[in-house]
Amino acid sequence: MVDDPITRHFFHGFIRLHILYHAAKEPVYGAEITAELIRHGYRISQGTLYPTLHQLEKLGHIESRAEVVDGRRRKYYRATKAGRKVLALARDKLKELVAEIIEDDDEPFQSLRRNRLRAPRSRPQVIKTRPPALRSGPQERRRK
Ligand SMILES: [Zn+2]
Repeated sequence: MVDDPITRHFFHGFIRLHILYHAAKEPVYGAEITAELIRHGYRISQGTLYPTLHQLEKLGHIESRAEVVDGRRRKYYRATKAGRKVLALARDKLKELVAEIIEDDDEPFQSLRRNRLRAPRSRPQVIKTRPPALRSGPQERRRK
């Protein structure tokens, strides 16, 4: 694993999604993904890339197919239907969280903060509930 803080914190989200993105466009293979990630500024080892690909495959987000290219076996990965669905959902979620940072516009948050300050002071309500198991336990016992 690369030892820069951004990669360390975001690898499991952003890079994985980025791999899924390319695999949704067309079948891609390991060396190609590595080169693309380098282009984006992330140098990841095979010891990180392949477990990530296998994990995505195990989750059912991508599937692989081996092909022989120039006498060598090459594994191509492509997004499954489920993977494309995840990518579409992630796209919306990313947009929502990232747009504010990219545009550096936190006015909606500042407005939320102002409204909270204006709201009448009240103690946060603590709702006490017992877990259902505890509530139904004695009743069930009584029924016997
Ligand atoms: Zn890319």
